[in-house]
Amino acid sequence: MTRIVALEEHYATPDLLDATGLDLSWLPMDPQRRLLDVAEDRLADMDAAGVDVQVLSAVGPGVQELPDEVAIPLARDLNTRLHKDIAAHPDRFAAFATLPTGNPQAAAAELDHAVTELGFVGALINGTTRGRFLDHPEHAAVLETAARLDVPIYLHPGTPPAPVLAAYYSDVPALLGRMLATAGYGWHYEASLHALRLIATGVFDRLPNLKIILGHLGEGLPFHAQRVEDVIDPLATDLAKPVRAYLQENFWITTSGYYYDGPFALAREVFGDDRILFSVDYPFSDNTVSTRWLNSLDLEPGTREKIAHANADRLLGLG
Ligand code: ZN
Repeated sequence: MTRIVALEEHYATPDLLDATGLDLSWLPMDPQRRLLDVAEDRLADMDAAGVDVQVLSAVGPGVQELPDEVAIPLARDLNTRLHKDIAAHPDRFAAFATLPTGNPQAAAAELDHAVTELGFVGALINGTTRGRFLDHPEHAAVLETAARLDVPIYLHPGTPPAPVLAAYYSDVPALLGRMLATAGYGWHYEASLHALRLIATGVFDRLPNLKIILGHLGEGLPFHAQRVEDVIDPLATDLAKPVRAYLQENFWITTSGYYYDGPFALAREVFGDDRILFSVDYPFSDNTVSTRWLNSLDLEPGTREKIAHANADRLLGLG
């Protein structure tokens, strides 16, 4: 059996759910119960689907929008507890740090602590923080720390800022508006815009070693890449390289929640087989559906190995 590593796999603690008021009870598959379990049920589900390793991250929106006096200690507590939980199963779990990005200096310090003291393999950040993308100068310390430590940031979609929700998603039936703003569409456009903003503002020229992971088969970028290049490259005279070069040198993408053959073929074309990593998006996507799709793909054995685990092992220093 192919070793399978999945890296957009979420967990929560009761404290995090309390602090954020996150209520997922309306979603199918009882994600709330499954998020809170980092042991027996989760391992059984992984075993049933053939997932060998989950790289765990706190479920969005994490601590990002909480006031500093809550977010900073809660991030430390989440990372400390997660470190203990995964120490019980070091061959089955690894971790992305939770960062209090509302306070960029504290976020950079927490990233350093989580990687150097706890052995975490990077951090996961959910979209904007207080309306600001990561290219904002106030977030420079976090990006510099990730580049210095040579760990990736998983750029996960996040809840849109209130003015965006009002302008784009009001006057749609409540549940549909909520889903259009997030997992049903809006998330993916915001996350790909976030990635393109990092390129357009020269972040990777300043930090050529910065590594960003995008979920959902590249958040639409495989479909839009050619168009972006045609329009942006002629105008991007201050950038050292064409857009595609940054996509292929600074980005990795995962299959989280996107077990779709057409977008996968396009993602291979644009990002290449060395930059696509299997993921599930547990517990919002199903482990078994995702691994069955991976195993059904018509791929050379070496290519399946890369996507199932070898690319992740190399990027995250696992295995
Ligand atoms: Zn996710």
